[in-house]
Amino acid sequence: MKIPIRIRAALYRSSTRNLELSEIPTPMPGEGEVLIKVAATGVCHSDLHILDGEMIPPPDGFILGHEVSGWVVEFGPRCENPHGLSSGDPVVVSWIIPCGKCYWCVHGQENYCPYAATRMPGILGLNGGHAEYMVVPETAVFPIPKGLDVYTAAVISCAYGTAYRALKEAEVRPGISLVVIGVGGVGLAAVELANALGAYPIIAIDIREMALKKAKELGATHVVNAVTEDPTSSIRDILPQGADVVYETKPTPDLKLAIEVVKRGGTILVTGLGSSKIEIPANHLVMNGIKIVGSLGYRPRVDIPELLALAASGKIQPGRLISHRYTPDEINQAYQNLREGKHHRALVIWG
Ligand SMILES: [Zn+2]
Ligand SMILES: [Zn+2]
Repeated sequence: MKIPIRIRAALYRSSTRNLELSEIPTPMPGEGEVLIKVAATGVCHSDLHILDGEMIPPPDGFILGHEVSGWVVEFGPRCENPHGLSSGDPVVVSWIIPCGKCYWCVHGQENYCPYAATRMPGILGLNGGHAEYMVVPETAVFPIPKGLDVYTAAVISCAYGTAYRALKEAEVRPGISLVVIGVGGVGLAAVELANALGAYPIIAIDIREMALKKAKELGATHVVNAVTEDPTSSIRDILPQGADVVYETKPTPDLKLAIEVVKRGGTILVTGLGSSKIEIPANHLVMNGIKIVGSLGYRPRVDIPELLALAASGKIQPGRLISHRYTPDEINQAYQNLREGKHHRALVIWG
């Protein structure tokens, strides 16, 4: 694979809090790193938290984009290439890169690895995938099985990964009743995955008809429009005792509805990274034995290969989640459309 000297990349500009498409030198892989030619990068709500100043701002010139797929180009020195990859092989890139040695990694909680927390490509410390090429530690890449489209596979590494890990934390299995509040990218992935895992019923809540229609297509048994219906009474009509699991996917969770519709002894899942505060009456929490579970990302070494297998076998179809594909020149418009709730999931196509 021929490597260009300069590449196009979308650089974060702190003065405007926008992305600027620029030419930069092609990054070269150092020790233990691999150069990836980027195929597609997802347009994720977490990026909006960065662009809209709700998280620690990255340095000027930083490259966002943490939901990435592409092709292996070349390994740097001292790589172990644990997957036996060759140049041209398609991979997804994980934004959680565990050290494999710390307390949390050893105990199987690699999504809370302190080392990983300081180097998340496209979020913190390492440049991400909004570029034609990117360099990541070789432990960040996972081979895409044959037959799975390299572009659509990008959404495995954030939307599906986040939803899958959250559902696992709540032990979602056949017969578990589930309410998903907010069916954007992660919420829709949760609906589809819960369906694959045997949850029933699966009730999707949103205020956008387009999102509810897609949720039905992906396996929601019921949908509730929180503008035209009172969501609490609609959910209680379907589940008089409440839901075993309520997944609050909103970027600014408050858990108000979740508290009203979770079953006694049930679980509330939270994965949104907004700046909202959550207030809960302590008595209500105690008297009803409600479990509130925060879940960050996924455990890449376990969850990513499982998700890729689910996708390769057709049990989930990530392509159905993708509603928009943008060129790199349209990247700021892509984020504006995300702000306005126009996407299910959108990709920027780089290669
Ligand atoms: Zn994301
Ligand atoms: Zn670790």
